[in-house]
Amino acid sequence: MNAKILAVVLLATAGAWAAEHPLPSPGFEGDNAKWWSLGDDSSQFTAEAAHGGKLGLRIGSLTYNPLGASVSSARLPVTAGQEFTVSFWAKGKPNCCGVYLWFFNSAGKAVGGANAKQQMCGINKKGEGWNEYSLKGQAPEGAAQVGLWIHSFSGSNGLIDLDDFVISGLPADAVATPPPPPRKARAKSAAQPATLPARKAPPVIIIKLDDVKQVRDDVHAQWKKMADFFRERKLKAGFGVVCQTLAEAQPKYVKWLKETHDAGWVEFWFHGWDHGTHSVNGAQLKEFNQRTYAEQKERFDKSQQAALAKLGFPFTTFGPPGGGTGASFDGNTCRVMQDDPHMKAWLYPQPLDEAGKKLQAAGKVVILDRVWEVNLEGAVGVPDFGKFVQGYAAHPERDYFVLQGHPAMWGDGARFAEFVKIMDFLVAQKAVFMKPTAFAATQHK
Ligand SMILES: [Zn+2]
Repeated sequence: MNAKILAVVLLATAGAWAAEHPLPSPGFEGDNAKWWSLGDDSSQFTAEAAHGGKLGLRIGSLTYNPLGASVSSARLPVTAGQEFTVSFWAKGKPNCCGVYLWFFNSAGKAVGGANAKQQMCGINKKGEGWNEYSLKGQAPEGAAQVGLWIHSFSGSNGLIDLDDFVISGLPADAVATPPPPPRKARAKSAAQPATLPARKAPPVIIIKLDDVKQVRDDVHAQWKKMADFFRERKLKAGFGVVCQTLAEAQPKYVKWLKETHDAGWVEFWFHGWDHGTHSVNGAQLKEFNQRTYAEQKERFDKSQQAALAKLGFPFTTFGPPGGGTGASFDGNTCRVMQDDPHMKAWLYPQPLDEAGKKLQAAGKVVILDRVWEVNLEGAVGVPDFGKFVQGYAAHPERDYFVLQGHPAMWGDGARFAEFVKIMDFLVAQKAVFMKPTAFAATQHK
């Protein structure tokens, strides 16, 4: 074909694409730098990921990646209630990536919250080759724009290739807006120990591991592994007990709790009666929020009774459970903490606030508060050494850190190894590991 005819054919083809749907560079053959935003350092446009054309998108990582990939498309105008369909092709490891619809209001802020997040298509088909996926979307109230967000799950590993996106049901002449540039990606080597700012003294570390409970008349093997870890390393820690199953504890579970307690490395603390949510005006609230004083007191009392009856000692530290929405405690919880005869320390779920200061000023309970950026996990259940070290380096003045984790979600492999990396780092820092109540006793002013 001569060049002139070829050009006409190409123009006609490009025109036909544009007429079908308004997403720019839908198959990664256009101005990708303008129309797609890569928010992590492993996602890339590559020929190896092409389904059609020359390029496709490859996301994910073959090694442990606490953050997951984050790629955003251009944004297209929508009106509330508008329906459309997104289709695309994908291949790679199943169940470690999804394509999400994110909606934004006219000011560019995300709308729809959890509901918008449910508009997600998981890449879950097994097999070597390419599979086609489609996702139906509907713009929620307040939405002015929609964009695609392609994400490999935090803590997953595996590569996924995606290509040839089509959005149908939106006007073909809808004018796209480029995605905002990614938030500054975290440099992997940003905070190596050699570059850490000096500290006056090594910090105290209070390890706060959540959600011990009885499972099949015993405790989950992961907890046994954690208790062994701290005993073998001679490091102190705190494990939070959900107490409903303590009241009905069977001999195996009781034996493990007692032996672990008696070994001296772990303090068991009170992490709620049932860790459940309760409904108030349609919202699912956390266990210790918006319940009466009497109801909250009863939850403390029956848990303390179970501890005394089964273990022979009461809990002296409290850490409220999460789940649901909203705050994890209220004014009644503060009163109960003041009134419970045994409670001395509170693993506060947030930085110290007025309610905490007031309670602490009464002289009985010590608040051990949180520094958000310094934690074992990035996403829940996903230990993140890089994030931890970066937070640690940013707080050289802080004398203690409460580090939270959910070991039942860690398994045996890469997540547990990432946790061990953080422990090794802290040991090298000569950090002092303390049990919560013991540390609280040093904090009375
Ligand atoms: Zn919990």
